[in-house]
Order: sequence, then C-alpha cells, then structure tokens
Amino acid sequence: MRATPARIAVLDAVRQASAPLTHGELTRQLDGNGWDAATIYRNLVAITDANLIVRTDHGDRRWRFEDRARSASKTEHQHPHFLCTDCGSVSCLPEVEVRLPRAQGLPRSAAEGAFDVQLRGVCDSCSD
Ligand SMILES: [Zn+2]
Ligand SMILES: [Zn+2]
Repeated sequence: MRATPARIAVLDAVRQASAPLTHGELTRQLDGNGWDAATIYRNLVAITDANLIVRTDHGDRRWRFEDRARSASKTEHQHPHFLCTDCGSVSCLPEVEVRLPRAQGLPRSAAEGAFDVQLRGVCDSCSD
C-alpha cells in the first residue's frame, strides 16, 4: 500500500481516537485538509483491506473503524464496546472475559469463546 498523505492522515486519526470512528466522524475530523468524504472513504477501505484497521459493527447499521492493534488482544478476541442507544456514541471497554455455558442452540464456537460482546444501554451523559 502506498503511503499517501490522505492515507497517513486517516490511519493516524483512527489510531489516535479513543473509540471506533464512523466515516462521517473521520470526515469531520479531517475537514480542512482538502479531502472530500469519498476520498476519505476510499482510503478507509484501502487501510482496512491492508489489515491495519478493522471495521467494527455495533448493531446500529453504522460501520466504525478502529486500530487493529487496539482491537485484537493476544487471544484475538476483541474488547467489548458500549453503544449508547440515546446519542449513538460508541466507547471501548476494557477487556473482560465472558464465558457462556454450553446450552442447547448455542453454536460450538460460541461455547469455545469465539463471539463478540456488544453492550447497549444509555451512556453517562445521556442518563444525567
Ligand atoms: Zn449517550
Ligand atoms: Zn474499541
């Protein structure tokens, strides 16, 4: 992958963020550099394809992008994220280990720990 100024800026912005960012948030953040939303999107896809960042899905139909180094732990399990159902903000949570008991209907892989944990609720600023 060629390191163009736009790619470096997009990658830096994702790496410096404390939570996964949407394409819109990145576009706003990089506003003023002369790149339009389509350019930023193309670069996001290229960096994701190069495996430097990961696309995260929080069940709100908006893709977000996060630094791969932060996203993958030693065991390859992602840390959980909290989605506020009120304002739509997403935050990273410390890694927690969640174990599911073997139960009927639970896929074997999930019983072995291969699943994502997604928390949905109301964030502190919205619950005040
Ligand atoms: Zn909120
Ligand atoms: Zn995260």
